[in-house]
Amino acid sequence: DERIVSAEWTREDTTLDSIRPRFLDDYIGQSAVKDNLRIFIQAARERGESLDHVLLYGPPGLGKTSLAMIIANELGVHVRVTSGPAIERAGDLAALLTNLQPGDVLFIDEIHRLSRSVEEVLYPAMEDFSLDIMIGKGPSARSVRLDLPPFTLVGATTRAGLLSAPLRDRFGVILHLDYYPVEELAEIVRRSADVLQVAVTETACEEIARRARGTPRIANRLLKRVRDFVQVKGQDVIDEPAAADALTRLKVDNLGLDSVDERILLAAIDKFAGGPVGLDTLAAAIGEESDTLEDVYEPYLLQMGLLQRTPRGRIVTRRGYHHLGRTFVGEDSS
Ligand code: ADP
Repeated sequence: DERIVSAEWTREDTTLDSIRPRFLDDYIGQSAVKDNLRIFIQAARERGESLDHVLLYGPPGLGKTSLAMIIANELGVHVRVTSGPAIERAGDLAALLTNLQPGDVLFIDEIHRLSRSVEEVLYPAMEDFSLDIMIGKGPSARSVRLDLPPFTLVGATTRAGLLSAPLRDRFGVILHLDYYPVEELAEIVRRSADVLQVAVTETACEEIARRARGTPRIANRLLKRVRDFVQVKGQDVIDEPAAADALTRLKVDNLGLDSVDERILLAAIDKFAGGPVGLDTLAAAIGEESDTLEDVYEPYLLQMGLLQRTPRGRIVTRRGYHHLGRTFVGEDSS
């Protein structure tokens, strides 16, 4: 996925990993989540115990990995970072768990993608800090129980509903991250610019924030691209017109839509009279998989009220028509 507005991690984000917030005070927004975490972390520290297992859920790029690292920093422990698909066999998980120091954080991204057999090893580990391993094969095989150091599992997933109920039930703390409002994204852009030592005006921060689809990862990526543009133009401060100009050239419009988003809305308008059109039909019309349309492309269009989901299919809203400069002909509930 090469889209500049993709919320997923891309190779070009490597250089941005160094600007991750390291402590709760640097982490902008999500105040309910931070307030909760502060209390749980302080309580665990005061008791000298490991923090309860934490499940973070929300769309990609909103700061789940950053929070896992912050939790470890605030607790003063190490963090091991892995992901559901990376833990292929039960033995891989056993190796990770037995290498933890007391109190450490184990971060498992995309935790909903753990296999069933790995998940089953995780249950007693989370619950009793113990590991049941099978030794030997056939009739002489027996199960041995090993004690693990107490640890905190931080799991991340896009939707809590993707987890099996027994896994979800073993998290003591479940926190939801939601898209950031423009003001908070502007603050994130300001902070990132300061860390990267880029001169940028307040209104330029807001311009970048408006086009960042509620997502810090996208905001930071746009900042970096705009910086390149403005630097090549020979300008040393990023101001609002320069930011807007650069973003328009990068084909990110004033709502943060790119050509893929536009193609989806235009296909629905031109080929299906604005809908209702079924997900599969619309996906076929733009040459994409239905799952990709539903999970990757559509959520932002729905969130912005440009597209609507109805029992009969997708409908382009009045706002969607207007945004593309088309005259609205249908009916919607907006
Ligand atoms: P996720 O794990 O949810 O995909 P990350 O934690 O990798 O998201 O965050 C993506 C980028 O956005 C990080 O590089 C980080 O710098 C930035 N970021 C995310 N949340 C915040 C925040 N609340 N404050 C400041 N920067 C943030």
